Amino acid sequence: MNEFDIIKHYFAANAQHRADVVHGIGDDCAIVNVPPGQELAITTDTMVAGVHFLETALPDDIGHKILAVNLSDLAAMGATPAWVTLALTLPVVDQQWLQNFCAGFFTLATRFRVQLIGGDTTRGPLSITVQAMGFTPPQKALLRSQAKPSDLIYVTGQLGDAGLALASLRHQVQLSAEHETAVLERFNRPEPRVTMGEHLRDIASAAIDISDGLAADLGHILKQSQVGARLEVERLPLSAAMLESIPRQKAIELALTAGDDYELCFTIPAHLRTELEQTLAAIDCRYTQIGVITAQPGLEITEDGKKYHAPLEGYEHF
Ligand code: ADP
Ligand code: MG
Repeated sequence: MNEFDIIKHYFAANAQHRADVVHGIGDDCAIVNVPPGQELAITTDTMVAGVHFLETALPDDIGHKILAVNLSDLAAMGATPAWVTLALTLPVVDQQWLQNFCAGFFTLATRFRVQLIGGDTTRGPLSITVQAMGFTPPQKALLRSQAKPSDLIYVTGQLGDAGLALASLRHQVQLSAEHETAVLERFNRPEPRVTMGEHLRDIASAAIDISDGLAADLGHILKQSQVGARLEVERLPLSAAMLESIPRQKAIELALTAGDDYELCFTIPAHLRTELEQTLAAIDCRYTQIGVITAQPGLEITEDGKKYHAPLEGYEHF
């Protein structure tokens, strides 16, 4: 199979067909129409073998995850995904690998009606780059810079599961079969919170997706908004796997500092709490208030009302 056969067989054949794509895969560029009155949100993320995923990672999971992390960035802006490009560097042409990669990638793409409109295919050490594009209504994108004192801080889903999975893959912790399956699913196949992001457009004051750990990513909101925050660790949403497999203190530290969760962290003005609950009532995604924004800069973490004492930066989890 040469480069063109690969593109035709695996990528062009599997691509969705959206009405706003004038020319997809096959020419020197893709040509698309941004819907009138919408703004274009653009993001890109790369995954390199041995750096962003383990050498043992399955191609199906890699295909899912590279798209999921890009859609997660769109979700964090409140954008609706539309198009993606895929730059794939492969050491060898392994058709089984390509087929499984495409299964993971296109299953997720289809769920969010995302069309693959172009890319690049080259030989070299395994590396995968996706660029994702989506739409937001004018001036409605969720920024990191607009959190205000007394805003409430929320996170979606549960925190720390991906970190626990990584510890398990590194044999640093022993999990029951059931918990292991659950956290590996969270680590390998994160769910981009796209619908959540869309519903937060008119409510949230700021948002970010959690790729590097809650403390670090909330830190970006605080810095760019020039505010501080008070977090209550007893409010952190933790899974059964976290609560039953490791000491509570370790679970809290993972929830605060472990990466790869791809949940959203967002803030809302306190008076919009009821509106938030009404807006999200029909959405199948857990969300939890974990603290408040303060005028005083810095991240203050409390446990049962007292200052929480634990080293957060450079902390060795196990
Ligand atoms: P060019 O040489 O003009 O850059 P290529 O030969 O690299 O074009 O690619 C031919 C067509 O296939 C282009 O439309 C390109 O966007 C598309 N393409 C190449 N690789 C991929 C890929 N991995 N996924 C999707 N489309 C791809
Ligand atoms: Mg060309």
